[in-house]
Amino acid sequence: MLKIILQGHDNYYGIGDVVRLFYGPCREDRENGAVLCDLGPDMTLISAADASNALPVNRQVKRDLYERLSEITGVTVPWGCLTGIRPTVVAAEEGFDPRALTEKYFVRADKAKLACECARLETSIAAQASQKLNVYAGVPFCPGRCSYCSFIAQDVTKHLDRLHDYASAMILEMNTLAPYLDEIPGTIYMGGGTPTVFDENDMSRVLEALRNTFRPDGDTEFTVEAGRPDTITEGKLKAMRGNGVGRICINPQTMRDETLRKINRAHTAADIVKAYETARKLGFEVINMDLIAGLMYETADDFLESVKTVAALDPENITIHTLYKKRRAGMSREDVLNADGRGDVDKAVREAYEFLTGRGYVPYYMYRQKDTELGLENTGFCKPGTHNVYNVAMMSYDSSVLSVGAGAMSKRAFADGRYERCPNVKDVSLYIEEAAKCAEKKISFFDLRRSGR
Ligand code: SF4
Repeated sequence: MLKIILQGHDNYYGIGDVVRLFYGPCREDRENGAVLCDLGPDMTLISAADASNALPVNRQVKRDLYERLSEITGVTVPWGCLTGIRPTVVAAEEGFDPRALTEKYFVRADKAKLACECARLETSIAAQASQKLNVYAGVPFCPGRCSYCSFIAQDVTKHLDRLHDYASAMILEMNTLAPYLDEIPGTIYMGGGTPTVFDENDMSRVLEALRNTFRPDGDTEFTVEAGRPDTITEGKLKAMRGNGVGRICINPQTMRDETLRKINRAHTAADIVKAYETARKLGFEVINMDLIAGLMYETADDFLESVKTVAALDPENITIHTLYKKRRAGMSREDVLNADGRGDVDKAVREAYEFLTGRGYVPYYMYRQKDTELGLENTGFCKPGTHNVYNVAMMSYDSSVLSVGAGAMSKRAFADGRYERCPNVKDVSLYIEEAAKCAEKKISFFDLRRSGR
C-alpha cells in the first residue's frame, strides 16, 4: 500500500487527486495525517510544505508529489499536476505563458499552448459576460439514454410523460419572475438534457415565455441546445427562429452509424446532415456541433473521420469532448488510452485540433472533468467572432446567471469578487409543484424587489 504522510499542510484533497492520476482510488486517513492507496506500491512518502517555494503551499505539495510519482512510475500525464482547477485560470494567472505551465505544473507543451490560447479569448469573453445578466433554462429530459451518458444527477428518461406539465411549470416560474425583471440579458441558453424533446406546441409555449419574460433584443445571444437530431423538426426550428433564437447546437457525437446505434442514439448520420441543412435554410446565425473522442465501439481514426465530416458541413462552432468515464483502478495510462482497442485517443485529439485550426477554427473555452478515464479535456472551437458567450459565462466567477427549471443552478456575482449560488429543486415532480416558489426564492436571491438585479 502506498502511504503519503502530510507534513505542514492539510491538502488531503489535492494529494488524493495526484495519487489517483497514477494509481487510481485512494482514501484519507485524517487521524494519522495520511493519504492511503491500496493499489500503489508498498512505500511511504512524505509530502511536506516548503515555505521557501514561490508556489502557494496547496500547489507546491501537489507539484512535488507529482514529480516524485512520475519518477517512480515513469508515467507523465498531459495536464501534469494541474488537477482541481481550470487550466485556463492558471494560464491567465501565469500571463498566458505556456512555458510557465510546463515548468511549474509539468503540463505537456501542446496542452500548455492550448490552455494559453483559450485563456486569452476566455478572459475577454468573460469580461463581456459579466456586464449583463445571463439566463439559463434547463430541460433535464431526453428521449432515451445514450450509453455513455454522464448526466448522472437524474434519470433523463424518467418522467417523460410529464413533459407538458414541466413546460407549464417553467412558464409559471418565468411568469412569476417577469414583473421583477428590468434588465435585457446578454445571453439566454436553453439547455438540457435535450430541450427539443418537447413537442412543437410545448416548445413554442416555452420559447414564447422566454421571449416575453426576458425580452431579448438584437444584441442578446439566444441559444437552444437542439441536441439529438431525432428530436429536431422543422416546426420546432421555426418556433425558435420566430422567438429570436439565433444559435443552436446539433450534436452528432459521431458520424458513424454503427456507433450511433450501439450508443443508443435513435438517429443516423444522414439525419444529422438533414437537421443541419434545415437549420441552415431557416437562417440560424451560428450552429455548434459536438463530437466525442474516445467513444466505446470506435477507434481513434473513426473519431478523426467524424471531425472531418462535420467540418465539411462548415458549422461556426465545433466542440470536442473526450469521453467522460471514471478511470478504472489498476489501468496504466497506455491501457487507458488504448482501452477496448480504440487506439491512441490522445494523438487523435491532437490531430483533430490541428485539423480544425488549419481550417480557421480557434479554441475559445475549455474545461476538464475530474478523474476521467482518458485524462484529457473538452474544448470549444469557433470561427473567429462566433464564440458562445454563455459557455464562458457559466464557468466564470464574475458572471451572474439566472436559471429556471428543475435542478437549475443560479449564481450571483458581486462587485467584490464573491459569488453565491442558488439551486432550484432537482426532483421533477417537486419542481412542477413548486415552480412559483423557486421563482420567489430567486427574487430574494437576486434582490430583484429592490434593485432590478
Ligand atoms: S443526450 Fe446528453 S443528457 Fe441526454 S442521454 Fe444523451 S448524453 Fe445524456
